[in-house]
Amino acid sequence: ARTPTRFHVTDAHMMRTIYQPRQPFAHKGTYGHALLIAGSYGKIGAAVLSAKACLHSGVGLLTCYVPQCGYQIMQISAPAAMCITDPQETHSSHFHETQPHTPALHQFRAIGIGPGLGTATPTAKALELLLDQYRQPMVIDADALNIIAAYPFLLSRIPHGSVLTPHPKEFERLFGSTENDFARLELLSEQAINLQLYLLLKGRFTAIACPDGSVYFNSTGNPGMATGGSGDVLTGILTALLAQGYAPKAAVLLGAYLHGLAGDIAAARMSQEAMTAESIIDCLGPAFLQL
Ligand code: AMP
Ligand code: MG
Repeated sequence: ARTPTRFHVTDAHMMRTIYQPRQPFAHKGTYGHALLIAGSYGKIGAAVLSAKACLHSGVGLLTCYVPQCGYQIMQISAPAAMCITDPQETHSSHFHETQPHTPALHQFRAIGIGPGLGTATPTAKALELLLDQYRQPMVIDADALNIIAAYPFLLSRIPHGSVLTPHPKEFERLFGSTENDFARLELLSEQAINLQLYLLLKGRFTAIACPDGSVYFNSTGNPGMATGGSGDVLTGILTALLAQGYAPKAAVLLGAYLHGLAGDIAAARMSQEAMTAESIIDCLGPAFLQL
């Protein structure tokens, strides 16, 4: 499958062909209901960042699923999102039990899981159940990746077309270490093909390996984004784009580009040093306007 056109670099022109402007007669149902499963005691901030990024990336409706300790924090920080809680201290399989007034899993057009999730055993069990019950592409990041690395049999159970967003350390935990960057890129692409997943290896020029064997390098972003929470913002953006009906490939290319572009706008406004993950969220608006 190795052809000369296998490697690509994303650019503004490509994004203009992917981006779908809002339809005049749209209603919130048009842009999908997303579920974000994130947060644990001490890491509810990760869930907040993902939720805000999701809300600022065009999602129709967002429900956040957090442990009980995150309820008030979420409702105050992201009033536009609905919030359901797990009665346990960490995420458990509670969500899968019948909960009145809670939409069934299949009613969500997209699910994002991982930021600040923790890796407790009941959480691992909950992820396993989720993978059994939700068979549409989802976004899997952070501690959800760490759980999968600890239980590698879960890898082959991830719905085809899902998006995994490991940073280099998470990538190594999932797929092992390699001698050099070229070998790592080969491994990334091989795994994307074998597992039929979109694998985003994050960093400078995030590499996006697709199930069809193509590999895209994202052209936006800067070292100001090397700060806690940056990746949680990306998860929110990608979940929002999937919920809106973007095909997974379109969502990953556009999402990574927008995330980096928002980071570049934030850096230009306030410096790479002073910007935070929240600055990236604040600059999503200007980034959409530049598309
Ligand atoms: P995480 O490690 O999960 O918080 O993700 C960090 C995010 O920031 C990823 O989307 C990276 O692509 C981005 N990032 C980190 N460092 C850089 C860098 N030096 N240049 C561009 N983007 C970066
Ligand atoms: Mg991360």
